[in-house]
Amino acid sequence: MILPIIAYGDPLLRKTGIEIDKEYPKLTELIENMKETMTNAQGVGLAAHQVGKTICLFLIDTSPFGTDEELDDEERELLTNFKRVFINAKILKEEGDEWAFNEGCLSIPDIREDVFRPDKITIEYVDENFEKHTEILEGLVARVVQHEFDHTVGVLFTDKISTLKKRLIRKKLDNISKGKITVDYRMKFPLLKRK
Ligand SMILES: [Zn+2]
Repeated sequence: MILPIIAYGDPLLRKTGIEIDKEYPKLTELIENMKETMTNAQGVGLAAHQVGKTICLFLIDTSPFGTDEELDDEERELLTNFKRVFINAKILKEEGDEWAFNEGCLSIPDIREDVFRPDKITIEYVDENFEKHTEILEGLVARVVQHEFDHTVGVLFTDKISTLKKRLIRKKLDNISKGKITVDYRMKFPLLKRK
């Protein structure tokens, strides 16, 4: 089932996620629905916060980046196959040079901004079977994971841009909250006034 994606301005997106265990109700169903929702919106990642559940859960599927001609074969292959469910993730270490990437977010449609983040991360998490993993990720894969991880602690990419850029997009952000935007996937707007 495709779930509505919560738009910018909803206080749910600002909550710190709660860690979950195997007993979390209907977890398998939630993960399946989130996958469907992410694919439908052509996203490469989706956090539970974005569908209204403030828990430490996000999904990544970077396969849409796998056809990028600008990247080398090795990175394309990695991106094509990188599909993961991250539960109770913790970033243990961020290192390497910070680089800018033009980020977007399904909760903030039509806005893209350059965001600087360190290149390499060490992340600890459990997967959908509650098996524990520690992985070192870098480049674009790390980037997508950093963005989604931020959702689980109530942080959005627009928090990480300059004050000037924030001022420039403020009106657009207000319009998103009010639902004054055209999107081709299901969304829920916090300030939409129904007539
Ligand atoms: Zn996002």
